[in-house]
Amino acid sequence: MTALSAPSFAPTPTRKREHVAVKKARALGGPALVRRLGYGRYVVPSASDPALAYVVSGTGPLLSGYRCSCPAGGFGNVCHHVASVHLRRLAENARRDWRKLRGAARQEVA
Ligand SMILES: [Zn+2]
Repeated sequence: MTALSAPSFAPTPTRKREHVAVKKARALGGPALVRRLGYGRYVVPSASDPALAYVVSGTGPLLSGYRCSCPAGGFGNVCHHVASVHLRRLAENARRDWRKLRGAARQEVA
């Protein structure tokens, strides 16, 4: 009998940065602080300087689908600003999908 091998979840440096960014975004309540400027453009306040805010551009669907104007983003790293936008959009998309599903279920019943 051959044992099936599980896929590797060894954390790559990028995956570690994404994990830290998502954790920090959640801890700071980042998704609630996101302000939408227009299609694919958002403003997220700095965690360290209340006078500063950064622009996040992109539409996902993955964390790598966004860019941020903060110093970490300038190095191409995933930051908590990007994670905040990503989590906010996931929540909004989930709510929209839920309304669609609920609407379809109501039509089936009627
Ligand atoms: Zn950033």
